[in-house]
Order: sequence, then structure tokens, then C-alpha cells
Amino acid sequence: MKILIVDDSSTMRRIIINTLGRIGYSDVVEAEHGKAGLEKLKLGGVEMIITDWNMPEMDGLEFVQTVRGQNASIPILMVTTNAAKEDIVQALQAGVNNYVVKPFTPDTLKEKIESLLG
Ligand SMILES: [Mg+2]
Repeated sequence: MKILIVDDSSTMRRIIINTLGRIGYSDVVEAEHGKAGLEKLKLGGVEMIITDWNMPEMDGLEFVQTVRGQNASIPILMVTTNAAKEDIVQALQAGVNNYVVKPFTPDTLKEKIESLLG
């Protein structure tokens, strides 16, 4: 399953990729912000998105809203330091399926991904 990871921090992308690898997902595509993420999506084949919120060019919220305008069903997991309840509500309203607050453990990421995939 191809997973798109959108985060402006290369370190965070590395952490997510390593965590995904440990739980059996090794087919990943990376983007450093929402705009680049949309370009990667156009190439096709992405079946799940893991995105940051705070990024230059296009943030995660705008990215998710844009994706949802084109694709209602692709699972989207947001991984962010924005932990306030109103932030989570805003992200869910934008179309995020689930939410992970940084820093996270591999088990947490695994649980969230598995719940997303049903
Ligand atoms: Mg960021």
C-alpha cells in the first residue's frame, strides 16, 4: 500500500518512514508541504496520506481540504504538535480521519493506521 507522507521536517518524515517500516509499510512517497503533496497525488497510486499541519507554501489544513475536494474516501491521518481540542475538531472538519499528536510512539502510529484501514 502506497502511503504519502507530507511534512516540512525531513527528520519527522524519516521518523514516520522508519516507524511505518517497522509495522510493515515500506512503499512511501514524500513531500515537504501541501503543494508538493498535491503534485505527488497527481502521479497516482497513493492509498493513504499522513500529513503534518504546520508547513510553508500550503499547510496541512488547506492540503486536506483540497484533497477532500477531489477524493472523498482516501484515508488521511494528521500528525501534528497542535494538540488543542479545537485544533483537532478543525482538522476533523477539514476531512482528516484520525489524528496523532507529536511526539508519538510506534504503537500509537500503528494503532491509528490500523483503525484507519478498518
Ligand atoms: Mg511542520
